[in-house]
Amino acid sequence: MSRAFSLFRTTDPVPEEERRTILAAPGFGKFFTDHMASATWTPAEGWHDRKVSALVPYSLHPSAAVLHYAQEIFEGLKAYRHADGSVWLFRPEFNARRFTRSAERLALPVLPEEDFLTSVEELVRADEAWVPGSADEKSLYLRPFMFASEAFLGVRPAERIAYSVIASPAGPYFAGGVTGITLWVSSNYTRAGRGGTGAAKCGGNYASSLAAQIESRKNGCDQVLFLDDTGGEGDLEESGTMNLCLVTSAGELVTPALGNILDGVTRDSILALAGEFGLTPVQRSITLSELRTGAADGTITEVFAAGTAAVITPIVGFKGEGYEFTIGNGAPGKQTLAIREHMLDIQYGRAEDVHGWMRRVL
Ligand SMILES: *Cc1c(COP(=O)(O)O)cnc(C)c1O
Repeated sequence: MSRAFSLFRTTDPVPEEERRTILAAPGFGKFFTDHMASATWTPAEGWHDRKVSALVPYSLHPSAAVLHYAQEIFEGLKAYRHADGSVWLFRPEFNARRFTRSAERLALPVLPEEDFLTSVEELVRADEAWVPGSADEKSLYLRPFMFASEAFLGVRPAERIAYSVIASPAGPYFAGGVTGITLWVSSNYTRAGRGGTGAAKCGGNYASSLAAQIESRKNGCDQVLFLDDTGGEGDLEESGTMNLCLVTSAGELVTPALGNILDGVTRDSILALAGEFGLTPVQRSITLSELRTGAADGTITEVFAAGTAAVITPIVGFKGEGYEFTIGNGAPGKQTLAIREHMLDIQYGRAEDVHGWMRRVL
């Protein structure tokens, strides 16, 4: 049984000059490379038709299950070019494992983790010319995803599943220097409930977060902070695309415990690095009133959000129905910026990879 993703090179790549123009200012998620990786699953054949071929639109029957019942999951990771020209992934095994857990929750077939890694690596190799240079925090963003493509309107796990990986060059997240954002504490919307899909990386979680995002903009904030109301205390969850971390005056790095939140690779890595910054990593529940009190009396000194896209985003203020407060003096925290730099140094090969997190592709 061959596990190779055979390469069928496109005969119609983006012209070199156009690619260079795109790579000079790629933005995020706007431009795509020449190829995609793909595989198909059916109950009879299992995973088959593994390949890397020209990026083309799908042809889907209007009854395709994903369009009606949202049986879909995805991942997000980046390929980084180091100064010596080599290309690396950051902890892709973590993404592969999480993809398995998401598949199980959405009743999708499990893609062997080896296939996940091979598909991502072969796509990066096919589209090597699309991995930006190491200057100014550019990268190639990789988006593996899986969805129910079976044409059938009944409600049951689909029996035809499409898996793909696409790639999109990404510019620096904070082009004009790292700035802090404010979070809107939503009291109208939650992102997950007990027994729901909060821990899975699925499109449905994002669809249900958009109304809260609109609410946050209307209130002059940049992103949402979701609370877990199931316990009645209003525990902090996450921002919906990023995990939340607090730094305390007692030298702790506190982050909400796993459960209904997404198990972020950035979150996990920061917990592992905390000791190097003199911080004790703590995973526990944190209530909104604890955050408000801690911000007011100075025991919570810094807050930041963590995710692959921005690495670390300083959070300098919060706003909710009838209240608002700032963290520290309202500027990005010192530890926040130091941890961010260190993560980037590891990812771009400027700091020693003592944890063995980097995986070389080219
Ligand atoms: C992907 C994601 C994150 C961040 O996870 P990373 O693995 O660090 O990129 C946080 N929250 C949600 C809901 C996500 O989908």
